[in-house]
Amino acid sequence: MQKQHVLIVEDENKIAEIIRKYLKLEGYESTQAQSGDEALTLYHQVNPDLIVLDVMLPDMDGIDICKRLREFSEVPIIMLTARVEEVDRLMGFEAGADDYVCKPFIPRELVARIRAVLNRTQRSSEQKVLRTGRLMLDISQYKVTVDSVEIKLTQNEFSLLKVMISTPNRVFSRQELLTATQGQSIDIYERTIDTHIKNLRKKLNQVAPNSNFIESIYGIGYKLIDSGG
Ligand code: CA
Repeated sequence: MQKQHVLIVEDENKIAEIIRKYLKLEGYESTQAQSGDEALTLYHQVNPDLIVLDVMLPDMDGIDICKRLREFSEVPIIMLTARVEEVDRLMGFEAGADDYVCKPFIPRELVARIRAVLNRTQRSSEQKVLRTGRLMLDISQYKVTVDSVEIKLTQNEFSLLKVMISTPNRVFSRQELLTATQGQSIDIYERTIDTHIKNLRKKLNQVAPNSNFIESIYGIGYKLIDSGG
């Protein structure tokens, strides 16, 4: 199998070198770009499987680069930020980033996040039809059925269900569910997840009365019960 390639966009060579060292240990290839311009050029040369993108770069803001990349690419992007204010994190997601890591970071944790994002994006591009006991979600046809009866969902509801159905009975935090819906919505706050879940439940119950497919986990988030409760 060909090694996966990570493009690291970071002007601080020391940091880039550490990331590259850890990626190599874990079996990934990597390339460093030191500026936004170089990142865009190298993107087309190396065709990376994932990009680690620092927010602070000499020529361009990392968030702007992220937006530029999103105009033509769905490549997974993890933002590195030293600015911890919530607004910056959210801007990263609004720009289309898949995840972010705050500096200073533990290299092992960054690599774990890289692997998680790669797994998640690979799975969603491979599996077109996801099934559990009573639910079916067809990604290419944008179709959901409960007990073989189709229900109409909004984009956000569809995205939420898609994430939860990928691993039934696993608890997803609101933050994870939020990440899953990014790029398709501008309402980017955690509490909007609750509203989407409420509507999703209502639609599932219309077809399957007395069912309880989505369980709330107090203080954390939600999980999908594949049998319908
Ligand atoms: Ca930097």
